[in-house]
Amino acid sequence: MHPIDKVPANIRAIAPYQPGMPITELAREMGQEADDIVKLASNENPLGASPRARAAIERALADVHLYPDGSGYALKTALARRLGVEREQIVLGNGSNDVLELCARLFLGAHTSAVYAQHAFAVYPLATRACAAVGVEVPARAYGHDLEAMAAAIRDDTRLVFIANPNNPTGTLLESAALHAFLQKVPADVAIVLDEAYREYLDEPLRAPSLEWLAEFPNLIVTRTFSKAYGLAGLRVGYALARPEVADLLERLRQPFNVNALALAAAEAALDDEDFLAESKRLNDAGLKQLTAGFRRLGLEYIPSWGNFVCVRVGETARVYQGLLRRGIIVRPVGNYGLPEHLRVSVGTEAQNARLLATLTEVVQA
Ligand SMILES: *Cc1c(COP(=O)(O)O)cnc(C)c1O
Repeated sequence: MHPIDKVPANIRAIAPYQPGMPITELAREMGQEADDIVKLASNENPLGASPRARAAIERALADVHLYPDGSGYALKTALARRLGVEREQIVLGNGSNDVLELCARLFLGAHTSAVYAQHAFAVYPLATRACAAVGVEVPARAYGHDLEAMAAAIRDDTRLVFIANPNNPTGTLLESAALHAFLQKVPADVAIVLDEAYREYLDEPLRAPSLEWLAEFPNLIVTRTFSKAYGLAGLRVGYALARPEVADLLERLRQPFNVNALALAAAEAALDDEDFLAESKRLNDAGLKQLTAGFRRLGLEYIPSWGNFVCVRVGETARVYQGLLRRGIIVRPVGNYGLPEHLRVSVGTEAQNARLLATLTEVVQA
């Protein structure tokens, strides 16, 4: 007998998160130059990070021997001002992944369940299982969340519903009216996590008034991140917005210093860089058009996306994925998301997208 023999079945059932292959790994395995490799696998910002964030990191370097401000006072103050919420409504996380897990730990445990959609973000089942709760996966409709079916799937033991809008990896978007109607249907004692990791890429009219909804739905938690449009994925910083009494409980669960000092400084600086954000969105809008036009020329179906990525149906995913890898392009297989015939391609710069399309043409026609 070993202690690991007593580790509960829910932990053993966890399928580890499969990240996009790091550039350094492909360089090592294929003997390629890292500079020649294009990674379109993890929905990272092809513009890099805001110059203001980089400058803030350099300034913050002088103090890396000190613990960060565990309360995140400056970043919370900046967020509160920008978003029009109270500081007491904000919970910072080591990436929004961290706050998603805090939500799971707050509401889930043995003899409870969480509801989420088929093809939804992989962290939801992961966090659910880690808490020994049951995951109720609701079949998708046209690759997106079927809100009516999700409302119907809520059971007596359900404590949490996860919604990603837009969703990753499918890129599907829910209409605000439909989402609002769904929130009205969810019982008051069930928490709803509305994950808005890609919100900044949406045209203004498509953005749900999710923070206004916090007043109407005390069980709502909105999560956002600096990893995508703000270009700070490597630093790990995200946040949850909720009613103060919910935020207070989440705060009790987090590590005392869960967001590092460089991340706090960079996020605060990035928040004010509206030019960078606008340029990220402009580049993404153009890149999505470029990629989807290319897929259409190749006769490949794709799932219309509102994120900074798009799933394209290539059929023989293993062959195409490997063919792209051999030619220095990393994309993301999504078989683990129940999409065995698709590859997810993150939007890159115009040149990166062009190279992906040219290489995909070569591989598909080989
Ligand atoms: C990328 C992503 C996140 C979180 O990323 P973090 O880097 O942990 O902030 C959350 N939700 C969805 C749907 C995502 O795609």
